[in-house]
Amino acid sequence: TRAVKDFDCEVASVCPFCGVGCQITVRVKDDRIVQVDGRNGPANENRLCVKGRFGFDYAMSKERLTKPLIRRDDAPKAADIDMRFMEVSDVFREASWEEALDRAASGLASIRDEHGGGALAGFGSAKGSNEEAYLFQKLVRQGFGTNNVDHCTRLCHASSVAALLEGVGSGAVSAPFTDAMKSDCILVIGARPGQNHPVAATYFKQAAKQGKKLIVIDPRRQELMRHASHPVQFTPGSDVALLNALLHVIVEEKLYDEQYIQANVSGFEALREKVKDFSPEAMSEVCGVPAETLRDVARTYATAERSIIFWGMGISQHTHGTDNSRCLIALALTTGHVGRPGTGLHPLRGQNNVQGASDAGLIPMFFPDYRSVEAADIRAEMQDVWGRTLDPKRGLTVVEIVDAIHEGAIRGMYIMGENPAMSDPDQLHARAALAKLDHLVVQDIFLTETCWHADVIFPASAHAEKLGTYTNTNRQVQIGRPALPLPGDARQDWELIVELANRIGCGWSYRGVGDIYAEMASVMRSLDHLTWERLNEEDCITYPVSEPGGFGNEVIFTEGFPTKDKRGHLVPADLLPPDEVPDEEFPLVLTTGRLLEHWHTGAMTRRSDVLNAIEPEGIAAMNPAEIARRRLTVGDMIEVGTRRGTITALLRADRDVADGMVFIPFCFNEAPANVLTNPQLDPFGKIPEFKYCAARVAKLERR
Ligand code: SF4
Repeated sequence: TRAVKDFDCEVASVCPFCGVGCQITVRVKDDRIVQVDGRNGPANENRLCVKGRFGFDYAMSKERLTKPLIRRDDAPKAADIDMRFMEVSDVFREASWEEALDRAASGLASIRDEHGGGALAGFGSAKGSNEEAYLFQKLVRQGFGTNNVDHCTRLCHASSVAALLEGVGSGAVSAPFTDAMKSDCILVIGARPGQNHPVAATYFKQAAKQGKKLIVIDPRRQELMRHASHPVQFTPGSDVALLNALLHVIVEEKLYDEQYIQANVSGFEALREKVKDFSPEAMSEVCGVPAETLRDVARTYATAERSIIFWGMGISQHTHGTDNSRCLIALALTTGHVGRPGTGLHPLRGQNNVQGASDAGLIPMFFPDYRSVEAADIRAEMQDVWGRTLDPKRGLTVVEIVDAIHEGAIRGMYIMGENPAMSDPDQLHARAALAKLDHLVVQDIFLTETCWHADVIFPASAHAEKLGTYTNTNRQVQIGRPALPLPGDARQDWELIVELANRIGCGWSYRGVGDIYAEMASVMRSLDHLTWERLNEEDCITYPVSEPGGFGNEVIFTEGFPTKDKRGHLVPADLLPPDEVPDEEFPLVLTTGRLLEHWHTGAMTRRSDVLNAIEPEGIAAMNPAEIARRRLTVGDMIEVGTRRGTITALLRADRDVADGMVFIPFCFNEAPANVLTNPQLDPFGKIPEFKYCAARVAKLERR
C-alpha cells in the first residue's frame, strides 16, 4: 500500500484481530486512524489481510460506549427485552464513575458475602492484553474467592489444549506457522486459514508453490485446496475414523519411527491395538474418502523428512474434540515429526490473545502457566503471592456457568469484553441465564447483546487505545501500543479491574501496565527472561527463553517433553458419533464458522465500513445441488431450525459446502447461528459441539 502522506504520528503496534499477530504501523491524524500498514514482524513480514488493513475504524465508531450506564429502576426485566426495538435510554441511565463502580462492586460483594464466592463467576477476554487477563483471573480468585473464571478459549481450542497437556505436557504450539517454509509436508485439517488466519495461509501457499506437499483435509472445500497436492473433503464428524485410518497405515506399513518412539514415546502398543480395526478400506465409507487416498496421505505425511500439522476448530469443536487432537498428536509422535524445525503440532489459535489469556490463567482449572488450582503446593505458592486463601476446587467452564445460573448456584457475574449472549451455544438458553442473574456487570466498548442484560455497564478501551502485551499463536509475545485517546469518559480496562478489586477488598496498588506485567512474569516461568524493558525495546520475543538476553526457542520438544516422565503419551481414540445426528425431522448437518471479513460476534468488524460493505448480512450457505433438490432459490429468505430454535437468513449458494449440509457464520445478530447450536460438551475440554448438529431448512413464507 502507498503510505498516506498527511499524518501526525505513526505508532508501532499489533493487529487486534486474529492469532497470527501481524505487526502493524498505525498512522494517526487529528486523533483518528487514517491508515494501517504491515510492519516487518516475524509473523507477517509486512503482510496484512483485509481485516488488519481495513478493519481499524470500529474503534472510532459513533456507537462507542462513552459513559458508565446503570439499569433504570423502571426498566423492563432483562428477559422481557427485545433489544431490536428498545432505546438505550428505556433501559439504562448515565451515571458517574463513582456511582457505577460502587454499584457494581457492592452487588458482587453482597452476593459473595451472603452466598459464598462460588455464587459468582467471571468471563474475561481473549481480545484483551495479557496484563488484563492476569488481573481479571486474579480478581476472581482473590476477590470473589472462586475459580469460576473462563473465556472464549473454552469455545475454540479447549479440547486441543486438554489433549496436548495430556500427550506432550504443554498446550502451546511446538513450532511457529512460518516453519511451513522449512517443512516438506504440511497437513492442514479442520482449519480454513484462508479465511481465519489469512497471513498464515500465505506461507502455506508459498511453501506449496515451492513444491512442498500440502495436504488439506476439511468437510467443506476451501480456497487453500486449490494449492494442495492432496485436497481431501470428508464426511463431517468422521474425524477419528479418518485419522485412525492414517495411523493404521503408518503401523501396518511400518512407516513409524521406531527409534524415536523407543526413546521418547509411551503407549505405542495400545495405539497399535486400537487402530487395527481402522483399515482405510473399512473406514472409507465412514469418512467418505477413497481408501487409496487415505493410504497416499498417510504415506506422504509419514515418509516426508519434515512434516508439520496445523489444525483449527473443525477438529476441536466436537464432543470428540479431544479424541481428534489425540489422533493428531499420535501422528506426530509415532513418526517423530516433532521437535525439529519444519515439524510439529500447531493448533492455529483464533483470537489475537487467546494463547496469552490462557497462559495468564483465565481458565477455571489452572493458575497462570497451567498450574493446577487443585494442587496444594501450587495453591500455597499462589496464596503467598496474592495474600489470600484460595479456592481449592476447579471452577466451572463457560457452558457449565450458564447451567449453574439456571440452577440458581451462580447469582452474579462480571463479564469483560466477551459477548456470551451471541457466542454461547443454544443462545436462547444462554440469554435466559444472563437475564436470571441477580447482578451482572459488563465492561465493553459497544452495547453488545450481552450488555442488554447488565445492571451496570463500564465503557472500556479499544485495542487501539491501550498499552499491553499479546501472545500470538506462535508463542510470540508482542507489544501493542496506544494510537488513539479514549472516547468520552471511557477508561482503561486494567484500571477498571483494579477499581472493582479495591472496592471488594483486594488492596491492589499497580501504577501501570509495566507493574502488572512484572508481577505476572514473576509467577510464570514461561516468561523467564522476557522483561517488560526488553519487550518494549524488541517489540516481540518468543517464549520460552533459556537465558538472560537470549533468543526465544521457536521450536520446542527438541529433547523430550515437559511431562513427568519426559515422554510423549499416545492416547488411543474410539470412534464416537456426534451428539446429534440428522434424522427425518432434521435431515441436514449444520456447521458454523467465520467469514474472512467478519470476526466472532461481529461487535468489531460489523462496525467497520469496509468489512461490513463486503459482507453486509447474515447468510446460510448450501451446495447448489442441495438448494435445487429442496426447491429453494438463491436469495430466498429461509428458516433454519434445530431442536433449540429457528432463525432466518439469506440463502447463498456455495459449492464448498457439501451436500446434506448448511453452513452459517456466527457473526450476524440478525441471523444468530448460536440459537441453533448444540451445547453438548466434549467430556475433557468441555467445549461445545459447534461444528455439528441436526437441522432443517424451509423457505420463509411471507406472513
Ligand atoms: Fe490481523 Fe490476522 Fe489478518 Fe494478520 S492475518 S492482519 S493478525 S486478522
